[in-house]
Amino acid sequence: LTHFLERARTYYPRSEIVSRNPDKSMHRYTYADFYQRTCRLMNALKRLGVKAGDRVATLSWNHYRHLEAYFGIPAMGAVVHTLNLRLHPNDLAYIARHAEDTVVLVDRSLWPLFEKFAAQVPSLRHVIVIPDAGPAPEGTLDYEKLLAAEPETFDFPTLDENSAAMLCYTSGTTGNPKGVLFSHRSITLHTLVCCMKDLTGIGEADSVLPVVPMFHAAAWGLPFDALLTGARMVMPGPHLDPPSLLELMATEKVTVAGGVPTIWLGILALLDQDPKKWDLSAMRTMLIGGSAAPPAMIDGFRQRHGLEVTHAWGMTEMNPVGTMAKVKQELRHADAKAQLGAQSSQGFALPFVETRVMGEDGKALPWDGATMGELEVRGPWVAGSYYGGEGADRFTADGWFKTGDVVTLDADGYVRICDRSKDVIKSGGEWISSVALENALMSHPAVLEAAVFAGRHARWDERPLAAVVLKPGQAASKEALTEHLAKQFAKFWLPDDYLFIEQIPRTSTGKFLKTKLREDYGDHLI
Ligand code: ATP
Ligand code: MG
Repeated sequence: LTHFLERARTYYPRSEIVSRNPDKSMHRYTYADFYQRTCRLMNALKRLGVKAGDRVATLSWNHYRHLEAYFGIPAMGAVVHTLNLRLHPNDLAYIARHAEDTVVLVDRSLWPLFEKFAAQVPSLRHVIVIPDAGPAPEGTLDYEKLLAAEPETFDFPTLDENSAAMLCYTSGTTGNPKGVLFSHRSITLHTLVCCMKDLTGIGEADSVLPVVPMFHAAAWGLPFDALLTGARMVMPGPHLDPPSLLELMATEKVTVAGGVPTIWLGILALLDQDPKKWDLSAMRTMLIGGSAAPPAMIDGFRQRHGLEVTHAWGMTEMNPVGTMAKVKQELRHADAKAQLGAQSSQGFALPFVETRVMGEDGKALPWDGATMGELEVRGPWVAGSYYGGEGADRFTADGWFKTGDVVTLDADGYVRICDRSKDVIKSGGEWISSVALENALMSHPAVLEAAVFAGRHARWDERPLAAVVLKPGQAASKEALTEHLAKQFAKFWLPDDYLFIEQIPRTSTGKFLKTKLREDYGDHLI
């Protein structure tokens, strides 16, 4: 990653980084300034005794100082570990202890959260406070004061390309979060491929906005894409609510923004209310991934607002992107896509990534667009193990990783994510895709959101149940929803019941928390 920094200094010194402060004022500086400040940070960390391979954690929103840490920590040979600021303090304590973080950089605005778990992390030697909302508390180091005392050049070490650069934990949707380490090599290859013309095509003319919080692997891609190509970086700070994001996209003429479906759903709802309020004519494509993106939402952006959407599938274990689908690519294989339902495909594997779909007996299944099995992937940026060695059974000796996602693959290699293996509904030996039912429910005009999950059943083991959130002021009967689904699905696929609720429980990264739904309503049919 040293090269990313050197390239920014040498070839793109005038490219801009624009970052929103907590008070909504804007901080603007150039890649040349960024380079110098990053060197100062590396010198400071070195002086504090940070050595090659040490984990240096960040607990930060998306802003320019977090970006300095993102690049500076790996370029000096240490490992940047991004902590998820939406987690419970107990989970943060578990993760920071598991990672054995030695130094942490924490936003002043997140200090109240940090205080709740700091004492439970014995490996922490230094606490550096980023003064985004007031000065550093006593007994801590002030980020700006540290930087001010250091020279603006750095004597870069020569690093092995396979050495670790970043550490990120999975979202914990299905259990304890698992740590994933990434090398300089895997991040570099992932970046090169993602910037290809037919994928994100990010280049110097772009203004790139990571909407996903930068602690989440899904946000990793964009900062690297920008630095390598000299694109302009736009950082939202702590303001990740839909109106603030729309305003930023319009005023900063953002061309590429990446986020998770929950955020995009909120943005679409606002655009639908008032399509003229924000000028998004600069927007080239919106990247959507991280959990199932309802086709009705993708269609809404495309048809009602003329916005192009790039749907991607990925995992923390994949750094994070594995497959991508653009409209144009879907059109190229129009016949296959018509059968598949174009919008519900996550596209096909990026170059250097291999895919296969496996049956429960461990045998490869056909690529027929219909047979469901577990997706396995292999490639240069697919993790080879979890940090600390958990879950070793998910990695094969010849490099395949068992994703835990249930998919179909069609003859062109298009992947359709049907479910997680833990969420797929097994009804009398047949598999029912909860995601397909959710997508269909969300295309009903009265439905805002729907989550389908397994209810225990005396005769069939499991039967589908649907938790439904209606749009404000709208109504839909159970019969109407069944009728809507019956147009698309066999009778045995239809949910046995509908639960109308206020809100679907979610994880810290905005995914449906189906474990909670099963806990609360799993016995509803018994
Ligand atoms: P944990 O592994 O700790 O239980 P997690 O799997 O949610 O949590 P992440 O690495 O953040 O942690 O998420 C990866 C998962 O998100 C994938 O395995 C897949 O189930 C889901 N996902 C990602 N992108 C998409 C997409 N475009 N469509 C459907 N599901 C997606
Ligand atoms: Mg996972």
